[in-house]
Amino acid sequence: MVTPTRVAIAGCTGSIGRQTLEVIRAEGPERYNVVALGVGSSIELLIQQAREFGPSVVAVADESRRAEVATALPGVEVVADQADLVGPADVVINGVVGFAGLSVTVETLRAGKRLGLANKESLIAAGPVVQPLRATPGAELVPVDSEHCAVHQCLRSSEGFADGAHREVARIVLTASGGPFRGRNAAQLATVTVEQALAHPTWSMGPKITIDSSTLMNKGLEVIEAHELFGVPYDQIDVVVHPQSVVHSMVEFTDGSTIAQLSMPDMRLPIGYALGYPDRITTPFGRIDWSTLSRLDFEPPDHETFRCLNLAYEAGRVGGAAPAWLSAANEVAVEAFLAGLINWNQIADVCVAVLDEYDVAVPGTVGDVIAADDMARRLASEVLERRMAK
Ligand code: MG
Repeated sequence: MVTPTRVAIAGCTGSIGRQTLEVIRAEGPERYNVVALGVGSSIELLIQQAREFGPSVVAVADESRRAEVATALPGVEVVADQADLVGPADVVINGVVGFAGLSVTVETLRAGKRLGLANKESLIAAGPVVQPLRATPGAELVPVDSEHCAVHQCLRSSEGFADGAHREVARIVLTASGGPFRGRNAAQLATVTVEQALAHPTWSMGPKITIDSSTLMNKGLEVIEAHELFGVPYDQIDVVVHPQSVVHSMVEFTDGSTIAQLSMPDMRLPIGYALGYPDRITTPFGRIDWSTLSRLDFEPPDHETFRCLNLAYEAGRVGGAAPAWLSAANEVAVEAFLAGLINWNQIADVCVAVLDEYDVAVPGTVGDVIAADDMARRLASEVLERRMAK
């Protein structure tokens, strides 16, 4: 009998966490054993999940709720820090949103374990800190993001995959749905509402990432993520708009051959891929019905209207803390847009104004990354205040 893989899930009550448990439920306890679960403060769902899956340890960041959890789950160890979930696991799924997820990434790689990474800050803002940890013996980073999971699958067959050299890779092509505003120009987009920006055509996601899809900032940040993950230069990472979100990304090789990964948009596929790697799970999430899939369209992105995409390439090429600055400035701008304080076009304006102030600094520690993030947020708030005052 094969022993089940021991899984820890940080951010278990969020979208990624809940879908991870769906995959595990479908695959069964003989394949996956949930040993640790962690949350910020959503303890009601955590308690419910823990009763179903029986972890030996749970992490609750919110101190005021910890005693309640301990009472509800007798015999389960209750800890404060989600980074403490790593110990008993073979694979850790990091579905924490924001900087709180960084410590989970660092601890998992440092412990030489497999990390299923959905926390974008870990690679985009903290790339220089996370990168060296990947060399820890046994450490393995499998992306839980549909595009990067696709690229990972396309690269597997290629010469140089094992050593990360990718000698046969000509370019990575990330696909973008184009979001709800595909085909519109800047003048038309000056007056769009929050509700319109939140109406994503193919993926159902949280408000922040949905707005990022509408500006193509999400794709830009994914370009940086791809560079960090696969070590491929920015000149060899392209973006193509593909409205159906069925081709999740592609890799073109030196002989002109392109390998693509296709499936219906369903995050449980990348989650299952990370859980099972290097094997594949047996539940077919996102399976394509070829009798109903009539067409697949592709078009180049409109770089003039969707300026955030080029901003991300620029920040990525500058490197150091520039991606952290861009990500932080964008978060502040998106919050302001969601609050009705600025229009859609001004999201890019705020990011430009903040990046203009950037002077070179390479973060060496988690503390440096958080300081860079604070700095960029403060600058972005100042930019917004100046605009409000006008
Ligand atoms: Mg994605």
